[in-house]
Amino acid sequence: MTDRVLITGASRGIGRAAAAAFGKNGYDVIINYNSSYESAKSVCDEIIASGGNAMIYRADVSDPAQVNGMLNAAGGVDILVNNAGIAEQSLFTDITEEMWDRMFNVNIKGIYLCTRAFLPYMLNRKRGRIINISSVWGVSGASCEVHYSASKAAVIGFTKALAKETGLSGITVNCIAPGVIDTDMNMGLDNKILSELKEQTPLNRLGRAEDIAGAILFLASEEASFITGQTIIADGGFTL
Ligand code: NAP
Repeated sequence: MTDRVLITGASRGIGRAAAAAFGKNGYDVIINYNSSYESAKSVCDEIIASGGNAMIYRADVSDPAQVNGMLNAAGGVDILVNNAGIAEQSLFTDITEEMWDRMFNVNIKGIYLCTRAFLPYMLNRKRGRIINISSVWGVSGASCEVHYSASKAAVIGFTKALAKETGLSGITVNCIAPGVIDTDMNMGLDNKILSELKEQTPLNRLGRAEDIAGAILFLASEEASFITGQTIIADGGFTL
């Protein structure tokens, strides 16, 4: 039977590239989006046009009712990719409680809510993969991104703890910590900063969304079946 995968935040960037990669590799793909309907629909159409199976579903991952609605509409999945996320740059002293709560509501509570919704199906079948997207800033910390870095560090803790709990049920839980990837998320960075980041990267380029999609696809594959609780750093050597 074909494996079904849900990718949160799959309308743009890394999630979109992951949706296309899963579609190309014969998975049934559920594309979650929040505000970018046209973009979500276009990746869905591309998968279907090349003979694959895909559907889109709008849900804000930080809203429990919307996440449960997505479960009711999509049904169980074999692979959950918790990718949806937001970033923001601000001096620590300028971070308001509202900014802090929003960051944590999307970046870590969203993972909790989606996992809470979709894990029981995996537990019943004693089979499943959960792949969470953290960030190198969750490993090393980024100046002017304390709330983002803290939320991404929480994703790594979540991954390790859940992996220990679900191992006996045949479910792996892993994490990818991307470096600087060329997506809309970094649109606000000026060219000087982007070229400095590139120069500090041993592979001498920024990452592409497809680079991270490849790592996600690997963690979902049979070849990765003995890997759990891990954080794969995909950053071109930036944090070496
Ligand atoms: P992006 O291009 O800004 O795309 C973000 C995606 O998340 C969009 O599809 C967006 O959907 C979705 N999203 C945001 N809030 C959501 C919500 N409340 N509910 C559902 N979906 C939501 O970002 P990206 O670069 O692809 O980032 C993807 C993940 O990788 C994030 O977790 C990010 O933190 C992580 N990451 C990125 C980088 C990087 O350099 N780009 C580095 C490390 C880690 P809509 O547009 O439909 O609202």
